[in-house]
Amino acid sequence: MLYQLNHLQKTYGNRTVLDIPFLTIGSGKIYALQGPNGAGKSTLLHILAFLQRPSSGAIQYNNRPVPAAEAQLNRLRRQVVLVDQNPIMFSTTVYKNVEFGLKIRAVPRQQRRARIEQALALVGMEQFATASAFKLSGGETQRVALARALVLDPKVLLCDEPTASIDTENQTAVIEILRRINAENNISIVFTTHDRRQTDVLAHQTLSLNQGRLTGNTNENVFLARIETTGETVSRCILADRISLSLPTALIAAQVGSRIQVHLDPCAILIAARTAGFTANNTFDGRITRISAENGRVRLQVAAAVDICVRLSMSEYRRQKLMVGEEVRLHVGEDAVTVV
Ligand code: ADP
Repeated sequence: MLYQLNHLQKTYGNRTVLDIPFLTIGSGKIYALQGPNGAGKSTLLHILAFLQRPSSGAIQYNNRPVPAAEAQLNRLRRQVVLVDQNPIMFSTTVYKNVEFGLKIRAVPRQQRRARIEQALALVGMEQFATASAFKLSGGETQRVALARALVLDPKVLLCDEPTASIDTENQTAVIEILRRINAENNISIVFTTHDRRQTDVLAHQTLSLNQGRLTGNTNENVFLARIETTGETVSRCILADRISLSLPTALIAAQVGSRIQVHLDPCAILIAARTAGFTANNTFDGRITRISAENGRVRLQVAAAVDICVRLSMSEYRRQKLMVGEEVRLHVGEDAVTVV
């Protein structure tokens, strides 16, 4: 697990601007963080970048508690880079802007050139190396800001509204860059957006924030659940009185017999034909009752003990060749579950 947040809160004065009982963010994926202005998106991004500290609660990064000491935090900050919505460029060339972070990290001059050229090529800005960074358009500035982040070889890229203030052509380019660096360089990405279409085309998983709290994205896959047992690490709840789901006790944080609302992210549920199905925990059998295309993804309605919706990328759908009427097995991993 890349990040795990437990009982995380951020308060300013007496105002709680983030309140997240439990959240996991998986490695190697693209997450969209959506929500209205003031929902807490930037605050969460800064906390994930280790640039702000939560007021209470705990964060794990790569399955280890995030250290409190600045020196150790700096080691983590080298792996996680945040690109601001309105990146500030230095009044010099594009090349020197991209070089800056490498100098700070004392990368030898001989190695710098190749890395800078590679980063600029990755964002399609190699011909701008000698241009003045101050004269770039909004879209070009965003691409150079991405190169400035990528040259540092991050494991995680956090982008605050990467396409909010740029033209359509550059929006498409930036989306393509993010998709490629995730697929080819295995960089985990969390980006904030207002634009629902971007979450659909780019994100593997969408997190919705409202007034500092995670909310179910839609009413889809939101279930009332009853806590059946609570153990030290694993607890069990019954969804809609029909399906038994084992979850980390930290996620549930409620007493036996109490009721919670659980959201299953349709993009994070795994599906396979019954014959090729999983044998892991939290698997459910069902039958596909409906298949429809939505915004470049495929939505499958599955009648299991309850109706569950699953969304697949077009390529995954084609690979699996699933059909209406087919017997399937679903697997709900803990990163698919949010307690609303
Ligand atoms: P978003 O990115 O979703 O627009 P933010 O994370 O920027 O939301 O802000 C969430 C809330 O926290 C807002 O109400 C904002 O006013 C408040 N906030 C953010 N930073 C500070 C700060 N430094 N001091 C006080 N309040 C803040």
